[in-house]
Amino acid sequence: MAERRLKLCGWGYEDDGLSAGETETLIGRLADRYDLGVAERRAPPPMDALSLPKPRLEAPAALQSFCTVDAYDRATHTYGKSLPEYVQIFDNRFDNAPDFVAYARDEDDITAVLDWAAGVKAAVIPFGGGTSVVGGVEPAVGSGFNGAVSLDLTRLDAVVEVDKTSRAARIQGGIRVPAMEAALKPQGLTMRHFPQSFEMATLGGMIATRSGGHYATLYTHIDDFVESLRMVTPQGILESRRLPGSGAGPSPDRFMIGSEGAVGIITEAWMRLQDRPVHRGSAAVLFDDFYKAAEAVRTLSQSALFPSNLRLLDPGEAYNNGFGDGAQSVLVLAFESADHPVEAWTARGLEICRDHEGQYDDAAGSDPEAHRSGAAGAWRNAFIRMPHYREVLISLGVIGDTFETSITWDRFRGFHDRVKAATLAAIEEATGQPGNVTCRFTHVYPDGPAPYFTFQGMGRDGALIEQWRHIKEKASDAVIAEGGTITHHHAVGRDHMPWYERQRPDLFGDVLAAAKARLDPAGILNPGVIVPAP
Ligand SMILES: Cc1cc2nc3c(=O)[nH]c(=O)nc-3n(C[C@H](O)[C@H](O)[C@H](O)COP(=O)(O)OP(=O)(O)OC[C@H]3O[C@@H](n4cnc5c(N)ncnc54)[C@H](O)[C@@H]3O)c2cc1C
Repeated sequence: MAERRLKLCGWGYEDDGLSAGETETLIGRLADRYDLGVAERRAPPPMDALSLPKPRLEAPAALQSFCTVDAYDRATHTYGKSLPEYVQIFDNRFDNAPDFVAYARDEDDITAVLDWAAGVKAAVIPFGGGTSVVGGVEPAVGSGFNGAVSLDLTRLDAVVEVDKTSRAARIQGGIRVPAMEAALKPQGLTMRHFPQSFEMATLGGMIATRSGGHYATLYTHIDDFVESLRMVTPQGILESRRLPGSGAGPSPDRFMIGSEGAVGIITEAWMRLQDRPVHRGSAAVLFDDFYKAAEAVRTLSQSALFPSNLRLLDPGEAYNNGFGDGAQSVLVLAFESADHPVEAWTARGLEICRDHEGQYDDAAGSDPEAHRSGAAGAWRNAFIRMPHYREVLISLGVIGDTFETSITWDRFRGFHDRVKAATLAAIEEATGQPGNVTCRFTHVYPDGPAPYFTFQGMGRDGALIEQWRHIKEKASDAVIAEGGTITHHHAVGRDHMPWYERQRPDLFGDVLAAAKARLDPAGILNPGVIVPAP
């Protein structure tokens, strides 16, 4: 069977995308809000007209068998999926294209690339699914390097070993989530970690970025599922011991998780698995007041009921996801279990919602298929289709992006109001027109939520990146000034470095730099990410 090719500009594979109907609905909603003008939608450049710089370095003979300078490969490894990256593709700008792409087949290939790169002072950028939205995979490494190689890891794509007794599996770092789940399914197992980007994201990329999955409580970050890791560094292999838990000093796993390709390549992980759920309950609850809904969520998060889904959508966010008229907030509440019926949990969860003025119909929670139909089903569909929206928005000159953070409950209301106000003000400053900012909770902890903001404004072709940057900077400043984190799960990359440096203790930054110097003395691995480039 022919291999499905990835889109150069857009989400997923070339044979997938929004249907004509979905595109029409999206454009209709945008036209209600903005003057889209009469101009034709912009299209990205055709593949045979790409403006790629000439490679500065050539792969040596020993690496040639798994490296390529093909224009499609270099172009699809120049960017991740952030807004400024899409705009640069539309503008046919590939200034930082890698000189070549290395499709590593095993750890020996990775070591060979690292050894060669250290010798010639070439930057090496690990590339998993390439779904980074924070500038994590663009070889924007400055003039301190003689070239850059994109190290594609998707050939390391096997589930190597399953330990059913401990319910864990040894899995290679380059496998994409659907392939991993397909391999685990016949054993009745699942990792059940689905970031919105799950279709394309790889296990190693998710671990390297501390991804957040679809579980809204309890199992949120991928950290919870990592039992042990194996990483190839320029100084050798770093491998941790398989253990269900350990109190032996600072955890080597915790050091590797979230390292974003700056100290080594995650080639394998033993991951904790779960039995596939068979019992489900879900319901959508409406609230007239967003802050009352947030109080319901706080009570639920502190109740030890641990819903699998506890996503609060503010009225605008609910409307954008296809629910309601934009006047009410919606809480998608769901429970699931592989072991026991969940009716009692669902009933108690709904009771808590009612105590906080939540509204739902009498049949709520009783339909075991409700996660595929009704409001919960609509949320699920929107969650899966949303990644395709960006290419349409940009083709129309609409700036649409998201940022995510977390904050303790005691500070939530003021935090939400001030971050939203700062972002709205920044959109108006940047575009000269009012914009739109909505909020949902993607994850919820007993001590606070992870609010996820979506912003939108009508941009101007030719100025989209500059306008986006202004909004992004003001929003990020507000998040840090108000005590939040610059990222709850999208990672640091290059885009968040200035705020990450303000957020983490300076002395800890020194410790990270010292660790990088020990593992990557030539400083070739993903320069400028996590540790500032010298
Ligand atoms: C539409 C959309 C929705 C998203 N939704 C979510 C979400 O719900 N939750 C979430 O957490 N994130 C989300 N993201 C962000 C992104 O998908 C995640 O950060 C994801 O974990 C990245 O995985 P990847 O395999 O694509 O990594 P890549 O994008 O290829 O790489 C990410 C970073 O990790 C490094 N890296 C990649 N593989 C390895 C490896 N094997 N070893 C060492 N370093 C490596 C890269 O150099 C880079 O710095 C979303 C992105 C998009 C575009």
